[in-house]
Amino acid sequence: MRDTSVAAVSFILLLSFFGCAPNAEEKQVRQFITAHVAGIEPLTTQANLNYWEASTTGKRELYDTLGKLQVSIRQTYSDPQEFAFVREVRRAGDVKDKRLARQLDKLYYAYLQNQIEPELLKQIVDLDTKIQGQYNNFRATVDGVTVTMSDIYTILTTEKDCRKRESTWRASKQVGDAIADDLIRLVRLRNQAARKVGFENYHTLSIVTGEQSVEELDRIFDELCRLTDEPFARMKKELDRRLADSYGISPKDLLPWHYHDPFFQRTPLVYDQDLDLYYRNRDVKELAERYYAGVGLPVDDILARSDLYDREGKYPHAFSHDVDRSGDVRILCNLQNTERWMETILHELGHAIYSKYHDREEPWLLREPAHSFTTEAVAMFFGRMSRNPAWMQEMLGLSAEERSGIEEVSRKYMQFQQVLFARWAMVMYSFEKQLYADPDQDLNNLWWELVEKYQLIKRPPGLVDAGWASKLHFTTAPCYYHNYMLGELLASQLHHHIVHDVFRLTSDQDASYVGDDRLGRYLREKVFGPGALCPWNEMIERATGEPLTAKYFARQFVQQPL
Ligand SMILES: [Zn+2]
Repeated sequence: MRDTSVAAVSFILLLSFFGCAPNAEEKQVRQFITAHVAGIEPLTTQANLNYWEASTTGKRELYDTLGKLQVSIRQTYSDPQEFAFVREVRRAGDVKDKRLARQLDKLYYAYLQNQIEPELLKQIVDLDTKIQGQYNNFRATVDGVTVTMSDIYTILTTEKDCRKRESTWRASKQVGDAIADDLIRLVRLRNQAARKVGFENYHTLSIVTGEQSVEELDRIFDELCRLTDEPFARMKKELDRRLADSYGISPKDLLPWHYHDPFFQRTPLVYDQDLDLYYRNRDVKELAERYYAGVGLPVDDILARSDLYDREGKYPHAFSHDVDRSGDVRILCNLQNTERWMETILHELGHAIYSKYHDREEPWLLREPAHSFTTEAVAMFFGRMSRNPAWMQEMLGLSAEERSGIEEVSRKYMQFQQVLFARWAMVMYSFEKQLYADPDQDLNNLWWELVEKYQLIKRPPGLVDAGWASKLHFTTAPCYYHNYMLGELLASQLHHHIVHDVFRLTSDQDASYVGDDRLGRYLREKVFGPGALCPWNEMIERATGEPLTAKYFARQFVQQPL
């Protein structure tokens, strides 16, 4: 009897030495997680189903139920005792089992971002709702006449009369002036909430709960800035010449309203080409289904559950939706046979396959993408195909001449679009960081300093207004914008790795991956399967051999000669 227990003890000691035996803390954590998931999983699935019903029908009452379910989920994560337990075991560092420690991390951040006192939370939610309401009900005017956002885009892309352009551009910013004071109040409230949980401001809190660090983001954005400085200046100079010619003015007289987008975040139409003619008589759904099947990532089950076509009351854009983390994945689209919808369906299915192929053996808390920007990266990787000449040639059966015609314009457009977006993302990232660091500074001036520095656009003469506040992301998705850029960087890093190390090609000239299931096998094994088992940068390093870098984005869109 005695001998047996000694043997058992040594066996356990031996196991602990190798980190396999559950210790008391691990046992407690396991029990906590089991109970937690038993409550949160059905609630999440129910909210997800409800969101789907609401988005596909537009019924008001479904949105109300959804709101209530979201509050219940939030309440679970705002429990201070549970948070204290999670924080303490995590701090003690006794949980050695990797899978368990990761789940603990996920829980810690989920609880941390919800530790706001009910009274303060109510003030934040109310102010947020008020600003969104003002935003939705605001009607911009040009010379006393009301204009919609879509009128503004049409005028900015077509109008040649510079005076009319100026008043339209100014109209697009009026809402900013109307909501800026409330938005700054919201920033202060968010900062107050962040300080209560020990962070200097809300920006830092958001970055940390997103499992990122400000130093890491600064490093990546600095690298990106350095790699795009000179090429952007060159591209912008050429663009300015073309735009100035189109208005019959000198490039030095160009002002913000001469660019085709209110924030100069999209490429002016001077380089665009009509790719719709290649998709007009095709079925974008069939093309996407055939393509994904060919690369070993069949999507027929996803498409069968999806809601693909335009209908009254339905949400007008697109998204991918993982309902239960157990294979019920769907996409919502409003398909038309155009290049934009080809891109969109490839993009949304990229998100969808990421979710579909999470290893179902992994615990529920880890059956998620490594980060929201890693699923964005996969979606962007596939979405980029709709303009890829090699892909278009293979999928649409184009001739060599048609392909080279597309190649010439499309490459230039893609390069400009990507570099331009990178510069715009730098403005957004730097501004938000400084906005939360000091909301009382002269923000209107700060905004224009950054626009001048990164986008090389001159500020309008006279006193500058709070046009920056018209960017709704500051209200609805605070401190998140940088993730779109990280998604683009990772899409390029994956592309580079797949071309050179998985397919072993010397150049990406013909890389369209059509009909090659090595692509699917690689992504399933290295990216989709592990889900959130590793922190995002560890997943990226395991999948591509190095941590996230701006180098491959620059190689794909900057360093190739124009
Ligand atoms: Zn997306």
